This record gives sequence, C-alpha cells and structure tokens, in this order.
Amino acid sequence: MNDLSFPSQPGYSPAAQKALSRKPALFIDGEWVASTGDQLIDVYDPSTGKVICQIADATSDDVDRAVTAARRAFDDGRWTGLPPIAREVMIHKLGALLEQHMEEFAELEAIDNGKPKAKAMELDIPASIGQLHYYAGWATKIGGETIDPMVVPSGSFHAYTRREPVGVAAQIIPWNYPLIMATLKIAPALAAGCTVVLKPAEQTPLTALRLADLVNEAGFPPGVLNIITGYGHHSGAQLTTHPGVDKIAFTGSTEVGKIINKAATDTMKNVTLELGGKSPVVVFPDADVKAVAAGIAGSIFYNAGQTCIAGSRLYAHKTIFDDLMDALAEQAQNWRPGPSLMPESAIGPVVSNEQYERVLGYIDAGKKAGASVVTGGDTPSACGNGYFINPTVFADVSADMKVVREEIFGPVLVAQRFENTEEAIAAANDTPFGLGASVWTKDLSTMHHVSARIKAGTVWGNCHSVIDPTMPFGGYKESGIGREQGNYGVKAYTELKSVIIQL
Ligand code: ADP
Ligand code: MG
Repeated sequence: MNDLSFPSQPGYSPAAQKALSRKPALFIDGEWVASTGDQLIDVYDPSTGKVICQIADATSDDVDRAVTAARRAFDDGRWTGLPPIAREVMIHKLGALLEQHMEEFAELEAIDNGKPKAKAMELDIPASIGQLHYYAGWATKIGGETIDPMVVPSGSFHAYTRREPVGVAAQIIPWNYPLIMATLKIAPALAAGCTVVLKPAEQTPLTALRLADLVNEAGFPPGVLNIITGYGHHSGAQLTTHPGVDKIAFTGSTEVGKIINKAATDTMKNVTLELGGKSPVVVFPDADVKAVAAGIAGSIFYNAGQTCIAGSRLYAHKTIFDDLMDALAEQAQNWRPGPSLMPESAIGPVVSNEQYERVLGYIDAGKKAGASVVTGGDTPSACGNGYFINPTVFADVSADMKVVREEIFGPVLVAQRFENTEEAIAAANDTPFGLGASVWTKDLSTMHHVSARIKAGTVWGNCHSVIDPTMPFGGYKESGIGREQGNYGVKAYTELKSVIIQL
C-alpha cells in the first residue's frame, strides 16, 4: 500500500473546540470541581499525535470525594427511593439528549480515540443511545419471585425474593469504544438503583466528560453519577480498594483485570470483569469464500482491530485456505487507514503511541518468527505523526507464536489451515481466552456441534461481532467474570434477598 498523498486531519468544529477548551475538572455531586492536586494528563488526537487538551489525574482525596458523594446519594434514598418509573424516564431522557448531540459526540470520539467520525455516527453513538433506552426499561421490570418452601406445610409461610441495588458501583472502562463502554456500564447500574463513580480511560475521557453535562440536564439528582479522570494505577486502583464501593465493573486488559479482582477481595466487593480476547474464526470448506472474507476483514480490521471480540485467529479448511487468503488481501484494501475526521477513512489510527509501538512490535515478532505477510505488515507512508497501521494478515503461523497466543489489539489477523473438525475445535480452544468465536458453514449440524464445543461467551454463526443489548456478553476462562447486557447485565447490579415469613 504505497500512499504518497496521505491526507491530513481536517479542522475541528466549534463544538469540539469548546469541549477541548474546558478546564480540567471532575464531575462530583452534580458539579464540576477542580482536583485537589495539580497533576494533569495530556490527551492526544491519534490522527496527528498532537496534544489537544489536558485532564486531571484525580488524587486519593478526589476519589474519596466522589465515592462519598455516590455513597450519600445511595444511602439517603434520593435515587433508590424514587418510583422506578421516575428512574426509567430519566434514563430515557439521557438517551434522548445524547441523540440531540449525536454529531458532537461522534466528533469528540473521533478526535479522542482516532476512530472515524463516520463510524462513530454509525455505531458508537447510536449503540450508546440504544443501551440507555434498553436499560431504562429495566428500571420498572426488576423484581423478585414468590417461592413455596419445601420443608414446612404448604401455605404456612410466605417466602419471596427481592432484587435490591448492590450500592455504589465503581466503573472502570477502556479506550476502544469510550462512550459505548460508559453507557454499557452506567445504564444498567442506574436502572438497578445503584449510584456510580465512573472512570474513563486516561487516553479517551472526552465523551464521558461531555456526557456529565447531559446527566445534569436530564435531571439526575446530584451524586447519582460521578465521573473522575485519572491514571488507572492511581485513581483506578483507589476505587478498587475504597471501602465505600460495593461493586466494581471493569472492562480492559486481562492483566489489569487480575489486579482488580485481587484488590477487590479484601472488602469482598462484587466484581464483574470483561477482559481480553483472541477470538477464533473457524471456516469450513462449504463456506462462501467471498462472503467469509468480507465478514472476517470487518471483524478484525474494524476500529483498527481494537475490539475485544475481534476475530483475530483464523482457522480455515485447507481446501479453501489459499482462496481465502487472496480474498482477504483484496478485502484489506477496503480498510485502509486515514485521519478520523476524513469521511473516506475506513479505519483511523490506533489510539496512542504506546499502542502503536505495541502493535508494530507484534508485527515485527510475527515476521521474525517466520510468519508470511499476506497483506500489510507496515504503516502507510507519509502519514505524519499519526499512529496509522495498515491492515495486516499473517499466514504460515504456528500455534506457539506470540502473534497467535497474545492479544494484539490492532489490525492484525493470523491464519492457519486445518484438516478436520476435531483439529479445528482443539485449535480454537487452544488459548487462555474465551470471549468470542465465529463458525462459518452452511451445514446446520456442523454449526451447532462446533458452537457447543467452543469455549467462549459468544459464538457467532456466519457473522462475527454482532452485539445486541438483549444478549448476555462476557467471557470464559481469562476473558472475564460475569455477564453484561440483557437481564443478566442489570441483575449484576443487584443483591438477591430471601424473605421468609411464618404466617
Ligand atoms: P490498556 O492496557 O489496553 O490500556 P487497561 O486494562 O490498562 O487497558 O485499562 C483499562 C482501564 O483500566 C483504564 O481506565 C485504566 O485507567 C484502568 N486501569 C489500569 N490499571 C489499573 C489498576 N491497576 N487499577 C484500576 N484501574 C486500572
Ligand atoms: Mg494498560
């Protein structure tokens, strides 16, 4: 991909410039407050590599203030004590306000994360709005059940369960889908009646901070939702041990997930973890090669591969492997990187210089280990200081290579051949992760058989990365603990109480 005329990032709109010119502040108890410390964090536009604003690195006093505000808002009943329909209406209102500001949020996401604004308009912002509306409805639908005890005469006891909000939820989210992650966390928590302290990733705080304005506009009582910014190992870590926090919900790397799970143990916090993946894509010989190639390319190259469920390991039957490689090389042309505000860009840069170096390090490791480059394996030429990486496919990889074993979180696919179904299943499961997987075949029996045998929280058939708020989402093995989305997602913010009354 020789690209001598790489375009530069267009200018920002007045709305975006206004958001970038805000003073670093934390959203606590319904107000914008300055940090008690003076440490700031630079925020970059990954399309240019330039600093665009700064945010506060919250101190332990700031974290304590935020948790105290959430604690008070929970304990005094200003949120849990509302009629559930009032909570439902307010969460819908937040969704409606977000819809009114869709364009601005899409631009902020593009400037902050690097994803094309056009893609954020298509996916990130509508999906975030959808989550708010979906979970709003749960506020009025969470309840317990009556149960007939077995060891006492029938009718002599009245026994039932109650679903009660777990309390203060600390929510720590990553940089790959900043607003989707924020709404996926706050919407079920608020619907369940919890109060929240949200910490966006230090790389991508902008849409979460802007959302705070809308939270006030929607009329949420102060302290119900607090948003703090800061480094993970500072303010993030403090949230995970704070005695005022009842629940931690985290999405991010498996490495940090393990740290958080340990940190939460001393105070026995309820924990939900959505961690890394290395999702297999298994293609059987009867699959339509062209359609499969388009599907796989979308699953690994979308968002520059920075998706936990990206189909990053391809296992294709030996009879179609070479054709599929040719088709994938062709498909990769549709996923060329460009600046996030250019309407033509299919993908943007990766999120940060750190991520850029990491992904290029993996590409280098793949080449050194003897993998052959089917397409990509390099960066576009003359792309300035942006963190752009060309979509890359490696073939001739082996199971023990670093590029096959580890999550790259970049636009890099590794491809292997298989001869029979058992071998494909074993290869698909040969990983510490278990987040997603896809199976491509027209044969129904093979589809269901293989779906049952793959150890992953979601298995897609003849598609990949299709996410719907109604379907439980989470990981087997080192990909996480618990499930988000659907009724499971909202139940994860509740305690279950048994009430047993002798009549
Ligand atoms: P990545 O390595 O891809 O940046 P991380 O898992 O490090 O992903 O980050 C995801 C989120 O977790 C971010 O909001 C980050 O600030 C936060 N984080 C990182 N380290 C810790 C930690 N030790 N404790 C709590 N949160 C953390
Ligand atoms: Mg990290």
